[in-house]
Amino acid sequence: MKLFEYEGRELFMRYGIVVPRGMTVTDADEAAQAVKLLGGAGVIKAQTLSGSRGKAGVVRMVHGADEARAAARALLSMTIAGCGVEKLLVEELLDIEQEAYLSLMVDRSIPGIRCIASALGGEDIERIALRSPSPVHSVALERGDGPEWEACSSMLDNALGPEMARKALSMAGCLYRLCIENDCLLAEINPLARTHDGSVVAADAKVTADDNALWRHEKLREFRDREETGADEAAARAAGLSFVALEGTIGCIVNGAGLAMATMDTIKLMGGEPANFLDVGGSSNPDKIMAALQILLRTTRIRVILINIFGGITRCDDIAEGILMARRRLAMTVPMVIRLIGTNEEAGRALLEGEGLKIVTDMTEAVNEAVVADRRFSGDMR
Ligand code: GDP
Ligand code: MN
Repeated sequence: MKLFEYEGRELFMRYGIVVPRGMTVTDADEAAQAVKLLGGAGVIKAQTLSGSRGKAGVVRMVHGADEARAAARALLSMTIAGCGVEKLLVEELLDIEQEAYLSLMVDRSIPGIRCIASALGGEDIERIALRSPSPVHSVALERGDGPEWEACSSMLDNALGPEMARKALSMAGCLYRLCIENDCLLAEINPLARTHDGSVVAADAKVTADDNALWRHEKLREFRDREETGADEAAARAAGLSFVALEGTIGCIVNGAGLAMATMDTIKLMGGEPANFLDVGGSSNPDKIMAALQILLRTTRIRVILINIFGGITRCDDIAEGILMARRRLAMTVPMVIRLIGTNEEAGRALLEGEGLKIVTDMTEAVNEAVVADRRFSGDMR
């Protein structure tokens, strides 16, 4: 999970990393007020998860409340990479003399944490790294038995010069604790800004947390829930389903992530487009199927629902009961194609056939039926 800059900045502050004074706002008047509080000049930054905001023109330097209001209004009306801008970060305007780069990231080839630094920050670090000789320096900070600060210190000396290296080393220490304690894959400061009065400040914060470890970090889960835009994703999570909305018209309910992926691949192979990824998980009770159908039925572009269950721990009769419960309680106008095999297959089949539903046993056949039903709907019978 990528954090927004204002969230990364909040973590930075908690770990003792110096950041510019600032605050988040959600409207133009608040932005104007913030700039006043910051002494009349500031930087207004759109909070988006896409990088290179500087180049995209969504980091604006402003002088005075009127400029702040106008810039904020413009940024809040923008759509960036398909997402609206909901928050702005307003920070004091730094008098930057040098833009450097400092980051810690998980490097699977070590395997451990790598520390990367460059005296040339600000622009795309990937592009800077390609220059010869590369001004980007790095060191394996950790090989499993704790951080090697001496090696890191001399790398920073080479990359940034002794004076800045001293401050960067202490920041790297803070980033290290941040990464370890929050299971982060990346914590990046770009630019690491040196101002005319000699202070060194984290003028941007880019943090990526490991999704698999979110369960043990309440603060990060708060960030995730704030960031949540899809109501369906939130509903799915609450029901214990793993769900990702996609763009197609064939709704999928599958047990097991691997089978769900294979189902989406097969749909594509046959010329259809899946509307979603949905894994109901292992021991699925009827309520989960009901919740899954409820979510898919809300999605108006879905023309057919493909249920693909390979019962192991999952019992086919539980699945069948969920389907029947949904049929009784929800207005189901969308056709369903059901493939059901494995544990308690006979019982599940009997339940569904008793209600006039047809069951398919072969996966390819089921996907094909769904794709045909989808095409029939669109009048596109190729
Ligand atoms: P990114 O492009 O999405 O990484 O956004 P950044 O937060 O890194 O900002 C982009 C650029 O804006 C930086 O590289 C700086 O050149 C500039 N910038 C940001 N804050 C300040 C500031 O307080 N003072 C000055 N002079 N420049 C700033
Ligand atoms: Mn940046």
